Amino acid sequence: MEFAERVHAVEPAAPFVISNLVSELEEQEDADIVDLSVGQPDVETPQHVIDATKDALDAGHTTYTPSNGLLSLRESIAGYLQDRFDLDYGPENIIATPGGKHALYETLQAIVDPGDEVIVIDPVWSSYEPMVKLAGGEAVHVGTAPYDFQLEPALDDLEAAVSDDTALIMLNSPNNPSGMVFSEAAFEGVRDIAVEYDLPVLSDEIYAELLYGDKEQRSLATYDGMMERTITINGFSKTFSMTGYRLGFMAAPTDHTTQAGKVHSHSVSCASNFVQRAGIEALENTDIDAFTGDMMETFEARRDLLVDLLEERDINVMVPEGAFYVMFEIDSDDDMEYCKDAVREAGVGLVPGQAFNTPGYVRASLVETESRIQEGIDRLEDAGFL
Ligand code: PMP
Repeated sequence: MEFAERVHAVEPAAPFVISNLVSELEEQEDADIVDLSVGQPDVETPQHVIDATKDALDAGHTTYTPSNGLLSLRESIAGYLQDRFDLDYGPENIIATPGGKHALYETLQAIVDPGDEVIVIDPVWSSYEPMVKLAGGEAVHVGTAPYDFQLEPALDDLEAAVSDDTALIMLNSPNNPSGMVFSEAAFEGVRDIAVEYDLPVLSDEIYAELLYGDKEQRSLATYDGMMERTITINGFSKTFSMTGYRLGFMAAPTDHTTQAGKVHSHSVSCASNFVQRAGIEALENTDIDAFTGDMMETFEARRDLLVDLLEERDINVMVPEGAFYVMFEIDSDDDMEYCKDAVREAGVGLVPGQAFNTPGYVRASLVETESRIQEGIDRLEDAGFL
């Protein structure tokens, strides 16, 4: 068979390359791997959400729903965005998607023409550039590694990256993989550039509920002049530990939801009916501060431990302010090989920095217990990886 150029232009998602290797070794050789490669919280989905899912199935909610999602879900999402992020969206501004990932995909399909440029900020989540390419566009990278992964010092570079072909800026804070929360001044800088050059901005706020300590972040669309040019992406995977439900959403001006809605209806028709009902339950009946507070307390203890262990070994590490990842520098020319070898030889799963266009680093997810993280570092050290 022959395949299209656009699929030849992309590789499988790199975090899955490592986690597939981990699964293979676990299944075939019964290997014990400290797996810090996966991007999902090791926290159970709230029981009331699981119960609501079963109830929805028992009640026969197994049919299609309106394409953009049940009105009641979109109303719940609008209420949630208002309460938690001071965002003024109505149900007509929302599309419920199978994961936030599909909201990103639909947005790029709706906005990017062949030859268009999309500005991404490195380290960049591993699916952004492939999604840009699948839409026929080209990613233009702005690096933050020289500035300890802060965006503010890179704003001049961001402005310099704008060209006549720029169709969109993609922003992700709290950031996967760096865990950085971009400053108010960085958000204002993005706003100034977007307004000056009349550009839309996709703000991926999927980790916005997962902040350490008293760190705060204002949604990009609340900044002056941004409501009409921002596509806000969020979802249930991280905030409610519901990765396998595949439920997320976009919130955007109606001209965008109209166009992205076409891509949505012709690709997925709608998100699963009973999953949408579980989503309503999650939004309406979860004590979000308590749920995410417990989760972040656990992640914070692990973060502090891992950062200490790395710093004790003189390893350059950025202390994350949100999400549940830690990036650190490694001494290797090929971080993909380093990560594959780390799984095979040390029994530790990490994701290579090149997956985020930031070679020379690896990402560890804080999804194993403190004693397992300690064990992981010991193994890496014993096997000569640190
Ligand atoms: N954006 C970022 C930055 C992510 O890290 C992820 C998940 N790893 C997503 C979007 C998509 O998550 P989901 O499709 O599970 O909602």
